[in-house]
Amino acid sequence: MIDCQDILTAIEGEDMSRQTDDGKHEGYVAAWFADDRWSGGWGNGAFLITRRADGSMLPVDEWFPRPPAEVIGWRPMCECGWRGSFWTRVGSPAEEDISRQRGYSSEFGDPSQELDDAAMREWERHIAPSQAAWPVVQAAREFYDAQDRLTDVVRQARADGASWTDIGDAAGMTRQSAHERWSKVVG
Ligand SMILES: [Zn+2]
Repeated sequence: MIDCQDILTAIEGEDMSRQTDDGKHEGYVAAWFADDRWSGGWGNGAFLITRRADGSMLPVDEWFPRPPAEVIGWRPMCECGWRGSFWTRVGSPAEEDISRQRGYSSEFGDPSQELDDAAMREWERHIAPSQAAWPVVQAAREFYDAQDRLTDVVRQARADGASWTDIGDAAGMTRQSAHERWSKVVG
């Protein structure tokens, strides 16, 4: 009997997933089984099944091991719920054809480095749009922070006796624009 905790301990030793900067996407290549169960990690000679076929998490005490011989293929997955295409496990190295999504595995059931790289390229295409937008997220954050700081220093300037004309001059706008922009928020 294989103990799930032993598998987990072995899995935790290596991090096989990759994460986007915003933390919303975490990709990995899952080992797939005939009943549409899958596993993101293996150790101590077995894969650990932690989810139901619909993707929801199983309670920890219902996790169970699966032997590598039962792996029928692989699929790139993302923690956001995205699933990539299926890669079929073939019986011999000669049958491997990465371009046709057929991969050979050793007795351990893990994909070859070449298959792993190719499958993760699918995940990279999946995250490309959010990666492209990531600089906007960062710049917007800086922009709103700067707006907050600007409001704070205007409030302080008013408290220290600056007129709306003084503040308008300092901010590069007219007295009226400065007043319209800040009078309601800083008093
Ligand atoms: Zn994702």
